Amino acid sequence: MGLNYQSTRDANNVVTASQAILQGLAVDGGLYVPTEMPKLDLNFKELANKTYQEVAYLVLSAFLTDFTEEELMYCINGAYDQKFVDPAIAPLNKVGNVNYLELFHGSTLAFKDIALSILPYFMTVAAKKNKVDAEIVILTATSGDTGKAAMAGFSDVPGTKIIVFYPKDGVSPIQEKQMVTQKGENTFVVGINGNFDDAQTNVKNIFNNTDLKEELRQEGYQFSSANSINIGRLVPQIVYYVYSYAQLIKSGEIKDGDLINFVVPTGNFGNILAGYYAKQIGVPINQLVCASNENNVLTDFFTTGTYDRKRPFHITTSPSMDILISSNLERLIYHIANNEVSETKHRMEQLLADGEYSITAEMNQNLEKFYGEQATEEEVKEIIATVFNENHYLMDTHTGVAAAAYQKYQKATQDSTPTVIVSTASPYKFPQHVMDAFATDTFILESEEAKLVQQLHEFSNLPIPPSVTELFTAAVLHDTVIDAAEMEATVKNILNLKK
Ligand SMILES: *Cc1c(COP(=O)(O)O)cnc(C)c1O
Repeated sequence: MGLNYQSTRDANNVVTASQAILQGLAVDGGLYVPTEMPKLDLNFKELANKTYQEVAYLVLSAFLTDFTEEELMYCINGAYDQKFVDPAIAPLNKVGNVNYLELFHGSTLAFKDIALSILPYFMTVAAKKNKVDAEIVILTATSGDTGKAAMAGFSDVPGTKIIVFYPKDGVSPIQEKQMVTQKGENTFVVGINGNFDDAQTNVKNIFNNTDLKEELRQEGYQFSSANSINIGRLVPQIVYYVYSYAQLIKSGEIKDGDLINFVVPTGNFGNILAGYYAKQIGVPINQLVCASNENNVLTDFFTTGTYDRKRPFHITTSPSMDILISSNLERLIYHIANNEVSETKHRMEQLLADGEYSITAEMNQNLEKFYGEQATEEEVKEIIATVFNENHYLMDTHTGVAAAAYQKYQKATQDSTPTVIVSTASPYKFPQHVMDAFATDTFILESEEAKLVQQLHEFSNLPIPPSVTELFTAAVLHDTVIDAAEMEATVKNILNLKK
């Protein structure tokens, strides 16, 4: 029997994995979740000797049951190849007494590459399987990393177009440069005057506009999403939780069955939700520490049981986490409400109408394996500098949020469980913010981005990834900037729709 997916807002909206991937968001506005957790035979002693690709097959075949073995192998081998500079794909790096799970060795230098290098393969296989002959238009809001990783994945993939919206003043200079230099006839990048939440809300509205959907259908187009609302993004992220547990056994850090913690720098709640799914299928996880920057809406949620987005939006040095509406939390709400759609739907409507909702005491109990913690900008700088000075390990600012949050977690709980800090970006993606942790009166930072990269290199001895060097000579191919309210009109324009 295959595993199906249903909407968090309508128990009758049930589809196959490939259909869920094609649709992205459910028509009722909900997100697709597995109708049950698949049963996997996780023999970690055996898994310890498996490659990333082999572990990926084990996990993906359990979640995407309407894909054949041949199709999955095609997707896995296409995605996890030399695009990743480290053949381990997701290597662990022991620093002091914690392990950093480095997910940034793909072509765009952030963890989004892991899911977004395989999503285009899923999408084209799913289209064939479901006899979709419409051209698939990927519509994506990005806080900086998804956009580039999705474009890199979909660039010149036949039968697809990709349109990316990013907050014009909310991404790092390297992130922006990566996006506006993107090649590929089918890629479109648009800056908006607004923040990530504005971009994401408008993308969801465009998805849910039934008139527009009909117009698209007539013109031979169909929307889908590369955001983590797409289950095809989440499932590949479960893999590295399984893989890293097995690798810790292999290196002798833990014994089979030992519990471990993961600390996850969080924005849209996709990465950490994949960790929750990993726990549900049998990875021995003790705590999932949800690390937030000064946009600490999730920290408050885990502490108080109330999600309240009515608060100032901060632009921080970890821009990919500058989010006040964490979309994937909807999936967790559904699960902690014992898979009740009505409990989920009405809270999501409350969030839209009133900007907040609360969960019941019973739901709160189901959250006991989550711990929310936050880090200030000062704390992030401090931990980056301390870890580098003590261990000569340089982390980026997003990972810094996690490392600082972990320090506070340990202080508060005295928990000595072996811990993995999920490292989501290369320091070279945010050179200015990383180097700021070291700037002093005598150590003055270069102001030009290219020189700053060189300075970071000389300072840390970390090799400069080739994709960074190329950026400084690449031509700018996209320069449109619009107001958030013009997003729908812009989509129509790009697709040459008449009305
Ligand atoms: C996207 C991103 C995050 C946040 O991940 P979510 O899945 O949205 O919670 C953290 N760090 C980096 C570098 C990212 O690109």
